Amino acid sequence: MATRGPEGQHIISAGEVGAFSVCPLSWKLKWIDREDTKMESSVELGKQLHKSWSTLFEESLLLTKWIRYLAVLLCSAGVFFLLIQSPKERLDDIFFVSVQSHGLQLVVLMAASLLVIRSFLKAARRRHRDSGFALSEIAVAIEGSSILPSREYISVKQGLAGKPDAILREGDFILPVERKPLAKKLRDRYVAQLLVYMRLVEEFEGVRPPHGYLLLGENCRRVKIENQERKQQWVTSLLSDMRRILNGSPAKPQPHPSKCRKCDVRHRCSARVDERPPGTPG
Ligand code: SF4
Repeated sequence: MATRGPEGQHIISAGEVGAFSVCPLSWKLKWIDREDTKMESSVELGKQLHKSWSTLFEESLLLTKWIRYLAVLLCSAGVFFLLIQSPKERLDDIFFVSVQSHGLQLVVLMAASLLVIRSFLKAARRRHRDSGFALSEIAVAIEGSSILPSREYISVKQGLAGKPDAILREGDFILPVERKPLAKKLRDRYVAQLLVYMRLVEEFEGVRPPHGYLLLGENCRRVKIENQERKQQWVTSLLSDMRRILNGSPAKPQPHPSKCRKCDVRHRCSARVDERPPGTPG
């Protein structure tokens, strides 16, 4: 809901900017007038999918961590095994003598450990890929993760706030990621939200992100959104319109059957338009 900074200025969340781009009146009714909303069942489903996404990623992090532990354990066990088997041998004879006398145990130990590491690695890779990331990418924060807690940015200077679903490090850049599990296609509101995150990341992380990512649908289709000046100008114009409404200007409805059908404040809106049943003349 609309919040205020220490000096009474409005702090607009990234999600609000996305909602405003769909219909200014819907945003006003929901975020400023705080009308009752009728929560769609899809919202609950979205939350569940979101949760399972962060769980999946968390599992991949845990598996990666265990792979490192196992690799260290394997190396330590191998060295220890060689040393205790041949304490009196010269160092360059140790491996040869140990393998000769205990070769089978050593090979079995190594093979079993490598098999476990391999299966952990496969499972980690699959989870990483299924959650929309590459194994080589460095996650800095994930919403819902206890290992990499999410980062919330609140800028009094910009009057903006936001908590990206994930934050990645790519070279010298910190990039925001937003997950939309129910999305079937790219929408302006997702782009607007991500562009606001990019403004916040630039202020708080000190470097302007060149792009961010949206993860769409159940299979986390990844879409790269460039942080272009013309896109940021669009966000600036949205924010100006929002601040005008916060200062008392009227909010214009932008009715459209497909928008109004999904609008959770449509019961409070006289401008709503309903979809015509199939076969009804236009
Ligand atoms: S019902 Fe339609 S016009 Fe009314 S607030 Fe919702 S989206 Fe806007």
